Amino acid sequence: MAKENFPLIFERSKEGKSGYNLPALDVPEVNLEEELDDAYIRKVDAELPEVDELELMRHYTGLSNRNFGILSGFYPLGSCTMKYNPVINEDVARLPGFSHIHPYQDTKTIQGALKLMYDLQVHLEEITGMQEITLQPAAGSQGEWTALMIFKAFHEANGESHRNEVIVPDSAHGTNPASAAVAGFKVVEVKSNEKGLVDVEDLRSVVNENTAALMLTNPNTLGLFETEILEMSEIIHEAGGKMYYDGANLNAIMGYARPGDMGFDAVHLNLHKTFTGPHGGGGPGSGPIGVTEELAPFLPKPVVREKDGMYDFDYDLPQSIGMVKGYYGNFGINVRAYTYIRTMGAEGLKKVSEYAVLNANYIMRSLEEKYQLPFTQHCKHEFVISGNKQKAQGVRTLDIAKRLMDFDIHPPTVYFPLIVGEALMIEPTETESKETLDHFIESMIQIADEAENNPEIVQKAPYETDVKRLDETRASRKPVLSYQKQITKEA
Ligand SMILES: *Cc1c(COP(=O)(O)O)cnc(C)c1O
Repeated sequence: MAKENFPLIFERSKEGKSGYNLPALDVPEVNLEEELDDAYIRKVDAELPEVDELELMRHYTGLSNRNFGILSGFYPLGSCTMKYNPVINEDVARLPGFSHIHPYQDTKTIQGALKLMYDLQVHLEEITGMQEITLQPAAGSQGEWTALMIFKAFHEANGESHRNEVIVPDSAHGTNPASAAVAGFKVVEVKSNEKGLVDVEDLRSVVNENTAALMLTNPNTLGLFETEILEMSEIIHEAGGKMYYDGANLNAIMGYARPGDMGFDAVHLNLHKTFTGPHGGGGPGSGPIGVTEELAPFLPKPVVREKDGMYDFDYDLPQSIGMVKGYYGNFGINVRAYTYIRTMGAEGLKKVSEYAVLNANYIMRSLEEKYQLPFTQHCKHEFVISGNKQKAQGVRTLDIAKRLMDFDIHPPTVYFPLIVGEALMIEPTETESKETLDHFIESMIQIADEAENNPEIVQKAPYETDVKRLDETRASRKPVLSYQKQITKEA
């Protein structure tokens, strides 16, 4: 446990200390006044902390100890798939042939890396049922945007540039309407029915000659599998639109169902979710997309191709939408995903889905007595409960989330999706043991009992964390984003 009054690096500072030694200068010294405009030259020395190397290491290790990550405890953050990232992925990603190469190197000298990219594409084609994959997008949301730009290019190439509407259900992930808007489309919302699924009649009523695409998050943000996909696909295709599958949470269906077999024209995957790339702190992601044969000419370039056992980048794609990311995607994350796929094998990936779904249903059924369950059918990899019962007792969902931290549990996603009041969106993932799931269930039940008998305990939580209850309004209106001594002291 980190200490309450953990000294920050400025407080450790002592004049004259230094943590490094530079070798003697063996090149001519630069005269700053000659090289730089006066406006850019510092007049007063920067106030930097002066510490030795050990103090510096303690500072950063101390900070990391105050952080909560998947290696600290259970992290059931709905829709984010905070699952364990196997160490073997790191070993492979650090192999010099992968980590010490340069993007401008002659492709003859990086055949292994290119083969890995090519083989990963082939695996992802098999997993999704799509015809071609690009590994370029650096996030799920960027994959969405890339696919929409491909749809747009396709419609334009067919003389249908008037198609400017993208239909997005109200149960979609928040990035879907955002990507559609950024890609220049008008977002048309379609409602969910009482079962939490897309209302197909409502869909029929919004489809028209301007429909460019339907974006479907499946399972949707309620963790429910959309049961009428084939019908939706028919409606959209008949109207000349394209079907987009948000496959960020593929661990719900992997090995059992494929977007390509359901009539989708494009799909994105989150390699930093389902395929164990680490993604805490918004780190590098990878959001490849897969498309059908007819859309392949529009893929971002370059594409990795194989010819006579040699691999190379193909830039000869006259209809390509262009590059969407510097170089070739986040290669390091792709190496980790490839390693994961190879260590799991086809049967292993199927098991991933089985356990992800089983774990989510186990927790959901264990909590349905104490918490309101707005949709009662079985869920897929995640589910949504409502804190409405507790709200009536004076305890908000935010309080429940804060209280969970006292049990060494990262709070789940809260107040999302918007279609459920006081929502808690819980995703256990397949990598957690039954003991961990039980600890979570017992903690949630204890919190529900506290809300009923002594709500103040929950309202004032957390008690066990380094930083206690924050002033949420001040934190968002007046965030302190850099070191300020007096504020750090009182926090
Ligand atoms: C995480 C997620 C996204 C966005 O992925 P990023 O890599 O965070 O951009 C999109 N859709 C769903 C369903 C997700 O869970």
